[in-house]
Amino acid sequence: MTYPWPGGARAAVCFTLDFDGESPYLWRTRNNPGDAVGELEQRRYGLRRGIMNLLSMMDNLGLRATVFVPGWITDRYPDQVAEVHRRGHELALHGWCHEPPTTLARDELHRTLVRAADALSAISGERPTGYRSPSWDMNAAIFPVLHELGVDYDSSLMGDDRPYLVDGLVEVPVDWATDDAPYYRYVGGDPRPPATTPTLRGGWAAEIAAAKQHGTLCMLTVHPWISGRPARVAALEALLAPVVEDHAVCMPTVRELAEHHRKHGEGYDVSLERLGRPEHD
Ligand SMILES: [Zn+2]
Repeated sequence: MTYPWPGGARAAVCFTLDFDGESPYLWRTRNNPGDAVGELEQRRYGLRRGIMNLLSMMDNLGLRATVFVPGWITDRYPDQVAEVHRRGHELALHGWCHEPPTTLARDELHRTLVRAADALSAISGERPTGYRSPSWDMNAAIFPVLHELGVDYDSSLMGDDRPYLVDGLVEVPVDWATDDAPYYRYVGGDPRPPATTPTLRGGWAAEIAAAKQHGTLCMLTVHPWISGRPARVAALEALLAPVVEDHAVCMPTVRELAEHHRKHGEGYDVSLERLGRPEHD
């Protein structure tokens, strides 16, 4: 079945930023707070330099992104998040301090996301309609919480390569193959060096070409602390410049694609309650 992409395009490419900064480190070390200044500073590069480098690149291309921001980052670095909004990009939820949903009870999930939505709304003037779970870690309890918050879409699951419905939310799916972390994430001591920019550019160009051939979505995910370095931003600009000009490819924000799916998508609805487990006797 051919998916009816916006504008009659053959495929879609979404460009998304997970604006994590040091929040995953702070969550991971919450019970034994240390002072690993090396990793903290590496992550803060995204807030000081990486985000601006990526925003300039997107201005050059006339490209709009969806930026998933932990509430704590919004609270701590309001100027950077306001600049993202001022330049026309979508702001969406990404936990409070990057806590994976499976680590929280239902009321904690609700409380952290209300607080994060309040922080984003204070900057954008509107409630966020999108959610991406930290580390793409998901559990069933989060769906009713997202409904209560008026969230329309999630972008954390990998069950399809075009938008579909999960428990009434539009799922705009992701893919580890088009996340920058498996290529570039390196915090010292890892078993392999980070991939080079031609490696990522070649891999992602193949993903975009395959999306055009098969009529699918290519969801690109980058982290300003990882991909905001000059050589990496230059590789992204070289990769994306021809895609922006390609009329066979649409490049909506995730919110725009979710809204399009509500009107024109012919996907199927996956109900989490109906997913069974095999019986063992
Ligand atoms: Zn994240």
